[in-house]
Amino acid sequence: MALRFASLGSGSRGNATVVVRDRTRLLLDCGFGLREATRRLATLGLAPADLTAILVTHEHADHIGGVARLARRHALPVYMTPGTWQGAGRPDIERLELISPHESFAVQDLQVCPYPVPHDAREPCQFLFDDGAHRLGVLSDTGASTPHIVAQLQRLDALLLEFNHDRQLLAQGPYPAMLRRRVGGDWGHLSNCQAAGLLQQLDRSCLQHLVAGHISEQNNSPAHVRAALGAVLAAEAEGMELADQDAGLGWRELR
Ligand SMILES: [Zn+2]
Ligand SMILES: [Zn+2]
Repeated sequence: MALRFASLGSGSRGNATVVVRDRTRLLLDCGFGLREATRRLATLGLAPADLTAILVTHEHADHIGGVARLARRHALPVYMTPGTWQGAGRPDIERLELISPHESFAVQDLQVCPYPVPHDAREPCQFLFDDGAHRLGVLSDTGASTPHIVAQLQRLDALLLEFNHDRQLLAQGPYPAMLRRRVGGDWGHLSNCQAAGLLQQLDRSCLQHLVAGHISEQNNSPAHVRAALGAVLAAEAEGMELADQDAGLGWRELR
């Protein structure tokens, strides 16, 4: 069966993405509490017990907040880097699988390829998923694009990409100066322009699904996201979908 993915929610109040191939059902991050994660999974027709494993990108609460309890309750294996585990305060997870952010591994019949990103966490990484026919890439929580990121994201079939903030809205917005510098800095989050610039460098000839995520509710808007991408890649902006904080994004399938 085809590779499928969906978002349970995306943004600074909680992130979780599901990636499924047949009976392999991976949850990428879980920034939602047990009840909320269960409720959101149900809207996608899944129960926590259906999951095969949880992958974690980094230790910020909007990504890892709900992971340990969910894993303990349902005896799920959890994959993360040693730095993420340390950074999270060494949570008690029975089936902990420590990974290198440079080495691919398989979870059942799905190939998982982590890659490091510059972000203000201990050892953050993002992930690509490969079922042999199609590749899905996820990139959020990175302050900058790097040559390695650009190389990793070439010729994807689907991409969930952070469009965190509009530079101007961030500069004029409600955040205190220190937080503004963190978010906008090289170890913070991608601005709309950075994300659009990154997309310009990619071979997009196979891209079936482009999804914008981790969109700030204070310093961005769907209109700003579309305008920034439309300014450089009009066709992509038209086809792009948005994963939001409350509703996430329903199932998308790679054919
Ligand atoms: Zn985040
Ligand atoms: Zn983060």
